[in-house]
Parts: sequence; C-alpha cells; structure tokens
Amino acid sequence: MSEADNQRPTRIVVDLDALAGNLRTIRSHVGVPVMAILKANAYGHGLVRVAQHLQAQGAEQFGVAFLEEGIALRRAGIRIPILVLGGILGRQITQLIEHDLEITVSSLDKLRKVEATAEAMGRKAIIHLKIDTGMERIGVHSETCAPFIEAAVAARWCVVKGVYSHLACADDPASRMTALQIERFRDACTHFSRLGAPMPIRHLANSGGILHFPESWLDMVRPGIVLYGVQPDPSSQRTLAVAPALQLLSQVVYFKVVHAGRPVSYGATWTSSVDTRVVTIPLGYGDGYPRALSNRGQVLIRGQRLPIIGRVCMDQCMVDLGPHGTAYNGDDVVLIGQQDGQGIAVEDLAGWADTIGYEILTRLNERIPREYRGG
Ligand SMILES: *Cc1c(COP(=O)(O)O)cnc(C)c1O
Repeated sequence: MSEADNQRPTRIVVDLDALAGNLRTIRSHVGVPVMAILKANAYGHGLVRVAQHLQAQGAEQFGVAFLEEGIALRRAGIRIPILVLGGILGRQITQLIEHDLEITVSSLDKLRKVEATAEAMGRKAIIHLKIDTGMERIGVHSETCAPFIEAAVAARWCVVKGVYSHLACADDPASRMTALQIERFRDACTHFSRLGAPMPIRHLANSGGILHFPESWLDMVRPGIVLYGVQPDPSSQRTLAVAPALQLLSQVVYFKVVHAGRPVSYGATWTSSVDTRVVTIPLGYGDGYPRALSNRGQVLIRGQRLPIIGRVCMDQCMVDLGPHGTAYNGDDVVLIGQQDGQGIAVEDLAGWADTIGYEILTRLNERIPREYRGG
C-alpha cells in the first residue's frame, strides 16, 4: 500500500495551471509588474508549492504577512524579492535583513531602528515605506508623511525600493473612499519629486483595486484573492476571467438510514419527518470547514447537490441523501469544486457561512493534505 492509499480521503487539490493562468491574466490586464501575495499559506493553497510555481512562471515579486513566511520561502529556495507586509518589531529586523527580506517601514521610529540595525550589520536594508491613506492600520498618515519620507530618503543604510498604501473599500466598485485614497497616496508621493529623490515603486492596488480602479495600478499591483480565482466580495464585478485553483474533496465513509423523528448530530438540531438516508463525510471544523455551515452547507455527491444536516462536528459531518437517495462508501464528495457539471464555489460557502471567501480559504488548515495538478 502506498502512502497515498493510506492518506485520509479528505484533500485539497490545487490546479497550478489555473494559478499560472490567473497570474498571466492579471499581468496582461494591468500592464505593470505583479507582487503575488502569498500570506496565510498562500490563501490556503500551500505556501511553498505555490511560490515555486509562480517563481517559475516569472512572478516579479512576492508579498507575505510575516517574517516566518518569508523565511520559509527563502529556506525553500525562493530567490525573487519578498516583501513582508506586516508591522514589525525591532527584534525582527536582523532576521529580515539576514534572509534578504524587504521590510515594510511604517513609522519614523521603525525607520531609525532599521537604519541602526542595517548599519550595525554592515548590510543595506531594502525597505518599502507604508503610507496610511484611510485604512488606519499600520503606516504614517499621508497628511503628515513629509518628515518620514525625508528621513527615509536621507537614510544611508536603507534603500527605499517602494512606497505603498492599502485600499480599504476597493472591493466595492461604488465606494468613493478609493478615489480619496488614491489622491492622498499621489499627494504623499510628490514628496520624492520635491526632494529631488528618485521615485520608488508605487504600489496600492489589492484585488479590488485591480478589478475596479485602474487609477490605483500605478507601478505594481498586489493581488491576493483574485490570483486564486476568487472574488473579494459579493459586490465585486467579474472584470477578470480568473479560474478558481482550489478544490476541497472527500469521500463517503459511512451510510445509514435515519428513522423519522431521530435527530442528527450534536444539539439535535435537525430531524427528518420521514425515514431518510444519511452519509458521513470525514471532514469537520477541525480542518477549517466552518461550523457555521451546520444545516446550511451543501456538497456534491454523484452529481447531486445535497444538504449538510445537523451540526458540523470537529472531524465529521453528515449529509442527507433523502428517502430514495443512493451513495456508497468511497463515493467522491465535492465540498468546493466541480462534479458532473455542478459546481460549488468558495463564494457559495462564504455566503452560506456569512463570511468572505478569504476566510473560507485561509481557514483550511494543515490537517488537510494538499495535492498539486498541472505545472
Ligand atoms: C492581503 C494584502 C493584499 C492582497 O489583498 P487581496 O484583497 O487578497 O488582493 C495586498 N496588500 C496588502 C498590504 C495586504 O495585506
């Protein structure tokens, strides 16, 4: 018996060709270099394999949230530039520089710390300045960023490779916040010209910006969710022909007849008024499949769309086939993906669970083995 035969039937299948196609689609749409965002295990798709594939496809730059993610990529042999997007603490700076990771500098104080550490190491730090244009997360407010930019330009051990900001409302094409943020960002960037300094790479657009706001594309774009073929929000417009890359699959492991009036699962929240046929799927909230899909989610078995009944358990969930439905142990179950012309999208799960596709994808955890196709 091979290891694959021993593996649990629940698995994620990632289509590397779909990812590569999405990268090409985005690039030709915007016409500027792309920083592929790989944080949170590449939105659940698997950090290292996705990075290796996109690097081979000529991705210009990666973005991750944390130092650890950047180190994992370097250890896996990724050579292209990697920007750590998140806020940093002083004690992390040495490691960021050692692993050749580009640093987000989000205050004057942090700039001074990076400058001092780089000087002590005798090695230049590559930095991107973070300007806050309306997110109120990390970054220096655009109105008061002049001294920050002046200090960065003057810093001898810091190379200002980029300047960036983050859009708060770009998922919504009707939001007026985005135009305001673009204007504030452009104003902030004028300080470089005023100082006679070279203009760093200006980047602003997340997936929403790429889909809806061409004025936000500037010198580089930072797609996350749309690179994986998923829409940022129900109000997003499908202006790009991207394909979902992830499927969540399993197999039936149990069949039983549940008699009328006998409730199913914890809390006894679901009962049938007739005898019905119920199968068990070996997947639960311990894998990151949302418990919020209790009595709301759907799956595909034998090309049929069937409801999850009762509470989703930690490792298992139950599906109603109806009084006359058929399924056997070992039958394929599609939780995200296509089967016989039917489809269940990440966006569907997000709607049923009252959340966004981002959360559905990034919750799918390491307990689920990942398989890669194509590439
Ligand atoms: C996560 C993130 C992105 C990507 O966002 P998407 O909406 O997934 O495209 C871009 N920029 C920053 C700073 C981020 O944190």
